[in-house]
Amino acid sequence: QKAVSDSDPELWQLLKDEKSRQRKGLEMIASENFTSLAVLQCLSSCLHNKYSEGLPGRRYYGGNEVIDKVEILAQQRSLEAYGLSPEEWGVNVQPYSGSPANFAVYTGLLQPHDRIMGLDLPDGGHLTHGFMNAQKKISASSIFFESMPYKVDQQTGLIDYDKLAENARLFKPKLIIAGISCYSRTLDYKRFRQIADENGAYLMGDMAHISGLVAAGVIPSPFEYCDVVSTTTHKTLRGPRAGVIFFRKGQKSIDKNGKTVMYDIESKINDAVFPSLQGGPHNHAIAAIATAMKQATTPAFREYQQQVVANARQLCSSLQGLGYEIVTGGTDVHMVLVSLANFKLSGAKAEFILEEVEIACNKNTVPGDKSPMNPSGIRLGTPALTTRGFKENDIVQVAAFIHSALSIAIEAQKLSGPKLVDFKEVVHKNDVISSKIAQLK
Ligand code: PLP
Repeated sequence: QKAVSDSDPELWQLLKDEKSRQRKGLEMIASENFTSLAVLQCLSSCLHNKYSEGLPGRRYYGGNEVIDKVEILAQQRSLEAYGLSPEEWGVNVQPYSGSPANFAVYTGLLQPHDRIMGLDLPDGGHLTHGFMNAQKKISASSIFFESMPYKVDQQTGLIDYDKLAENARLFKPKLIIAGISCYSRTLDYKRFRQIADENGAYLMGDMAHISGLVAAGVIPSPFEYCDVVSTTTHKTLRGPRAGVIFFRKGQKSIDKNGKTVMYDIESKINDAVFPSLQGGPHNHAIAAIATAMKQATTPAFREYQQQVVANARQLCSSLQGLGYEIVTGGTDVHMVLVSLANFKLSGAKAEFILEEVEIACNKNTVPGDKSPMNPSGIRLGTPALTTRGFKENDIVQVAAFIHSALSIAIEAQKLSGPKLVDFKEVVHKNDVISSKIAQLK
């Protein structure tokens, strides 16, 4: 057997290039992280070779006695990582990633064209929470279900729960999604539950971004209030690129007419994952989930998550000190949303200039943006830098680098006008600007 370095030198070079890119730059994309050696070993293990449609003990393929043990371990450890009792909660560790996990929840709990309410994408929700724009239903979650997004308050940047409650009374959703991709405050799950109960809706938590913080107990958990909780395992949780769904088992609840109803979420979710949506589970990823969930119960992991939040808070205060406006005025989690509206600098230009100096982040809409196509903010995250060992004093330096880069962007903008292409040309061709960038690299 030949190693990829021998069998495919062209691809091997690309793998080395990407590794060096990840090492050299500052990775500040809030959804990214550097996973552990143990997780990477599971991902490239022989478990990848095996087909195992079905659940442990009920497979459609032979030869699964070891795979069954791996999947059961992943299930047990996932429940343990969130302090859940196997009597009350079940878990499915087979979703290929976060989007398929969310679709499995919708497929299991809803009928086509049932109504859903999630946080709007420009306000910090995810595509899979029912995103559509004025012209088009964009996400399949808005094509196959009727979606009425809820929003943040334009002044405070905080979720407008009163408006959500008011609209839910009119729209009567069957499912409400409490989850975020770009929102730096904790969620009021109790309030979400009240609104869901008032309308006889399921409450789904999508903790993809924050699942590491929840496991470490550094922010409130969705489990007390939600019927079902989905997550990715590769963001703050620092595991493999995969998805997991937790669901309540045989839970009693009072419906809107005061009747006691029993949930049967377990079979609905399991059947939705397979056979409705997926085929063979990715057993290498399931093994990697098992080892990541084990790591998530350690004191070191808890310290790491505390540091992630401390670093995000430091980033906020350093950037505020340098004159930047932070949406909601701060952060409780691993991310910081910076509005550049006061500098009239677009998020796209900021993202571009930061990439030029090897700081990776996302352009992002901020409350008050007219168009999601031209956002005026950037989203910065601390999970990956914290994995590399960064502490608050390093983050002060990172904020200074960001400020230097954005100051160059503001200067380049004065020479270039509003269009991104003209801006890029100035950055690359103007001698003064390009030498300033070269110095910062
Ligand atoms: N849910 C939330 C809240 C997310 O932020 C994301 C990804 O960013 C997803 C779901 C989808 O995950 P994936 O990209 O793994 O499909």
